[in-house]
Amino acid sequence: MEASALPTITVEQTTVSKLPSIDFNNLAFGKTFSDHMFICEYYDGKWQTAKIQPYQNLSLSPACNVFHYGQAIFEGMKAYYKEDGSGVVLFRPEKNAERLNISAKRMSMPQVPIELFLVGLQQLIKLDKDFIPKTAGGSLYIRPFLIGTEPFIGVRTSDRYLFCIITGPTGSYYGDAISVLVYDSFIRSTKGGYGSAKAAGNYAGTLYPVELAKQKGYKDVLWLDGEHKKYVSEVGTMNIFFAIDGKLITPLSDGTILEGITRDSVITIAKDLGYEVEQRDISIDEIIEALEQNRLTEMFGTGTAAVVNPINRIGYHDKDYLLDEKTFVISQKIKERLVGIQKGTLEDKFNWVKQVI
Ligand SMILES: *Cc1c(COP(=O)(O)O)cnc(C)c1O
Repeated sequence: MEASALPTITVEQTTVSKLPSIDFNNLAFGKTFSDHMFICEYYDGKWQTAKIQPYQNLSLSPACNVFHYGQAIFEGMKAYYKEDGSGVVLFRPEKNAERLNISAKRMSMPQVPIELFLVGLQQLIKLDKDFIPKTAGGSLYIRPFLIGTEPFIGVRTSDRYLFCIITGPTGSYYGDAISVLVYDSFIRSTKGGYGSAKAAGNYAGTLYPVELAKQKGYKDVLWLDGEHKKYVSEVGTMNIFFAIDGKLITPLSDGTILEGITRDSVITIAKDLGYEVEQRDISIDEIIEALEQNRLTEMFGTGTAAVVNPINRIGYHDKDYLLDEKTFVISQKIKERLVGIQKGTLEDKFNWVKQVI
């Protein structure tokens, strides 16, 4: 990258750090934030000077598009110490920057220059490096987001935007096995919709059905496709994989699922470990039949937080189908390899891990 391509970022440091008040042995996800935030405004058809400033509330017109028509997209990633403590790294960060722009395009928002995203993030992490947990399994959770901020309540694309990155320390996430409920009354996305965008609206529409599932004792929802209500889609915060007859099967990325970076990494590692991976339509009937015949031996979700999260119970049409996650072999092997690459204890042959500090 040429020096001239680097964005200018002004830095205003905080005078009072929150650091002394943080209990690193007792971190709740998403409630603790670092001292600073990265912020860049877009107007007059271009990105303005970026700024790193003390973490603070935003001041926005109540007429902003984001409050009424939901032009809002986000990313989720983490920075963490390598196992030997030798440095702070990110996992495939350029993929998050690229995906933000894929989401932006679908939601009619401007592209965020990749270097603005990556350089801004790197500077922010460096400034708040003391917030990165050194405890085993801990990480700095990173939340970049882009919102429409033009003060205008007509229905059209906003001409003003805010790109922002906030971060916060999180403790170890164990990824205990979860239960999922399959609905044929609610859907998350359908072909031609925006299920493949990491858009706030995809979550807003699923909160109610997920709450109902929780009331019934399930941790989350396993969504079916919107058209036929027949093919499995994803878990809403995680992509889904099944092991049937020793092969891994995961739904196609057909525009209805979010294309997870963990999903892509899991597919690559599974193939590298010699497993067959099929990306295809997989019906809930095929899954139930394979479960009843004991041919379906593992099911798991994939996402940045838990990496690989076993699923031990599926509820469908008032029946529960159970698996014992302690018997899962393939997903365990994949998780060990992926976490080993992330932590720097195994060779990073795909060049996924990027040093920040
Ligand atoms: C973010 C997200 C995922 C997981 O993506 P990763 O890049 O692996 O973290 C899966 N599904 C949905 C709906 C998501 O928003």
